Amino acid sequence: MKYVSTRGGAPDLDFEEVLLGGLARDGGLYLPVRWPQLAPDEIARRAEQSYAAAAFAVMRPFVGGVIDDDDLERMITTAYAGFDDPAVAPLRRLGDGLFLLELFHGPTLAFKDMAMQVLAPMMDHVLKRRGQRLTIVGATSGDTGGAAISAFRGRDAIDIFILHPHDRVSDFQRRQMTTATEANVFNIAVQGTFDDCQGLVKALFGDLAFRDRHALGAVNSINWARVMAQIVYYFTSAAASGAGTPVSFTVPTGNFGDIFAGYAAARMGLPVDRLVIATNINDILVRTLETGRYQPGIVSATSSPSMDIQVSSNFERLLFEAYDRDGAAVVRLMDDLARSGAFAIAPGPLEAIRARFDAGRASEAETMTIIGEVYEREGLLIDPHTAVGLAVARAGRTRGDAGPMIVLATADPAKFPDAIRTATGTVPEAPPGVLDALSGPERFTVMENDLDALRGFIEKNATTE
Ligand SMILES: *Cc1c(COP(=O)(O)O)cnc(C)c1O
Repeated sequence: MKYVSTRGGAPDLDFEEVLLGGLARDGGLYLPVRWPQLAPDEIARRAEQSYAAAAFAVMRPFVGGVIDDDDLERMITTAYAGFDDPAVAPLRRLGDGLFLLELFHGPTLAFKDMAMQVLAPMMDHVLKRRGQRLTIVGATSGDTGGAAISAFRGRDAIDIFILHPHDRVSDFQRRQMTTATEANVFNIAVQGTFDDCQGLVKALFGDLAFRDRHALGAVNSINWARVMAQIVYYFTSAAASGAGTPVSFTVPTGNFGDIFAGYAAARMGLPVDRLVIATNINDILVRTLETGRYQPGIVSATSSPSMDIQVSSNFERLLFEAYDRDGAAVVRLMDDLARSGAFAIAPGPLEAIRARFDAGRASEAETMTIIGEVYEREGLLIDPHTAVGLAVARAGRTRGDAGPMIVLATADPAKFPDAIRTATGTVPEAPPGVLDALSGPERFTVMENDLDALRGFIEKNATTE
């Protein structure tokens, strides 16, 4: 399988290069040159064996033989063996045609583990074969960093630098990153927002000389392999719902990676009715779908920090698709964005997007209310990100949407004890052992929002030369 850049100006690559690289050299994101077609019944049959068996079948065509089948199957099986639910991604029926897809049974209690636990052994495997090292640099709004550090800590061939917005992630999220004592882990607390962190990482990847010198790799959802691993649970959950008809998905959305995986599943043959983008008050995508104008605003801090984003990187992948894979058109939009702080989607592509996607936002008050309601009615605690998704899905119900709707539950409520206590009066219990692992001393470096400072820090600490 070959991969093409969304901006049409970078060489086509195979899976191995896309896995180890990050942004394309023209600033774009990689996508497979065509969508492999899968038979949903076949994936459903494999899912009856195990989640890992279904995952192997979904990922195999994207890997395209770059990793031997036996090795790939073993990595996937090992990755999901550590999850604390035998179903890996269990589906819970809520009534009224709503389901919750629990994606938080991995080691860091958020859905990022679903992909990261597979990404790390794949990268390790490929690097060892090539006799190379890699410097991973990533930005996190909270959960990616913990999931990445959990997956990459202590790996010989890789240094990992994670930027998080200083004082804008929860204590739990921060400790998941900063209590890692392995010498290959570097935490940087940037005095700024997540978008600042992401901007720094993007700029660093744009410095091609630096990028080559330090063999920079990405684990943000700009890395195609992340999105690839997330396609799996769209197939398995549709099968587990027993709906037998097209299902819809509501996805708590920030960087658009997770919901783009749902789009990919649809392109690969899964019958999908609607894909619903759910955001908190950082609602750039809702405004974009309403008006056709993509205009980042100012980031507001909310109780769902992993969605406190105004620049949604993976949306570029959808634009590329909506513009019939016209890289030059994407370049024009991104130029507009850089020059004037916004771009307008042409009527045809906008219609194509609206044909598959809906979008809704939930306020902080609505988020808290739904956490309280679900706890009262069902005795179930949900985290604020999941609550945003459920609030948006419920609002659709009251407007008359019908048909099976799967809401992605993206984090364990135990990660957000303060919000849950406020909403319910109850404190969620973390799975056994999790809190002990976070009690050690913390290690991180506070840094200004400054590219030169970041370059210098990596120069000094990375062992990749
Ligand atoms: C990352 C994250 C999201 C947003 O996912 P995107 O792929 O960035 O859209 C939602 N919820 C939680 C808990 C997350 O960690």
